[in-house]
Amino acid sequence: MKIDIQTPSKSYPVYIGKNVLESLTNHLQTNDYTKLLIITDETVGRLHLDELKKAIPQSYDTYTYIVPSGENAKQFSVYESCLSYSLEQGLDRKSCIIAFGGGAVGDLAGFVAATYMRGIPFIQVPTTILAHDSAVGGKTGINHPLGKNMIGSFHQPEAVIYQTEFLKTLPQSEIRSGFAEAVKHAFIADEELLKFLMSTITDLRAINNEDLVFFLKKGIQIKADVVSKDERETGIRAFLNFGHTLGHVIESSAGYGKVSHGEAVMTGMVYALYLSKEILDLEFNISDFELWIKSLGYSLEIPDGFDFDQAFTSMTRDKKSYSNKPRFVLLGKIGNPLVRELDKDVLEKVYFT
Ligand code: NAD
Ligand code: ZN
Repeated sequence: MKIDIQTPSKSYPVYIGKNVLESLTNHLQTNDYTKLLIITDETVGRLHLDELKKAIPQSYDTYTYIVPSGENAKQFSVYESCLSYSLEQGLDRKSCIIAFGGGAVGDLAGFVAATYMRGIPFIQVPTTILAHDSAVGGKTGINHPLGKNMIGSFHQPEAVIYQTEFLKTLPQSEIRSGFAEAVKHAFIADEELLKFLMSTITDLRAINNEDLVFFLKKGIQIKADVVSKDERETGIRAFLNFGHTLGHVIESSAGYGKVSHGEAVMTGMVYALYLSKEILDLEFNISDFELWIKSLGYSLEIPDGFDFDQAFTSMTRDKKSYSNKPRFVLLGKIGNPLVRELDKDVLEKVYFT
């Protein structure tokens, strides 16, 4: 199954489903890269590197660089060592980087590709549910000790090869984290998809492949549509931040890695739904929604000791906020987002108690 992504700077295919690694083989056979560098993390490398390598034509000079798993991949020191390794192995401007892993590896490897010799091609081979979001759209980057994703670049991949068999080894917590972004895509663009998810997905350990491919494909399409209209986030791309204003501050205040990105965003989405009801009279049964996501294992908890004033201060500091008021994506209707800067009083009124 193939989706074509069109952005002002580049068009590229996303292949999704079982056995789509053959599309990687085809792509590599029809392009003449001088060398390949696979960047993967310890976990994905251990579990799936052999499978990936089978799809790479023998004729290629292929190198592999293994980075720490998770957010630790997105450090300056790791970025620098990827560049050093690339120089040592003689990668040139016609070489190609393969990002093999979740969003963290994708962001790191994409940023290496964006900056090595002023930019070389790269291919995303995502292995998490969350990466249906992160692998598409061309945002790449690493973290700074003073802030997450603060150093980065826009660099679109040559192709995205999303083989769903790789997802089978994901731990529960990572499935929960990624699924939240799929729910987010439904909220901002597709009420039918939201109904489908709420009626079909009752156990995150038992999603059948057909349903999985269906909602991942829809999510990719929604993200692609937004990105094609606003590649560099000057306008509607901000809708993709639904749930993220509070989500980001929960994630960072708990300490990265303690509450996953998606779990924090899920809590942030519930908050944004209550705000939407308060401010825009959103017609949506939030209680039913909360029951559903709790049954899937989301806790919807605010970290201990994290009161409204702290949350407000952090939300105001968010890099997406231009004035001293936090910016929120709200829903007038399901599938109908808009961005508002909100005053402290309404934010406090709706805050979880
Ligand atoms: P991740 O890449 O950190 O992966 C999560 C964990 O799962 C890691 O420990 C990893 O080793 C492991 N893992 C990955 N694939 C696996 C598999 N198939 N089986 C077993 N374990 C596996 O996290 P993520 O949730 O995929 O991505 C989060 C990152 O994505 C964050 O850094 C975030 O900033 C970034 N992100 C980027 C964008 C974008 O547009 N560029 C969008 C959203 C998120
Ligand atoms: Zn997100």
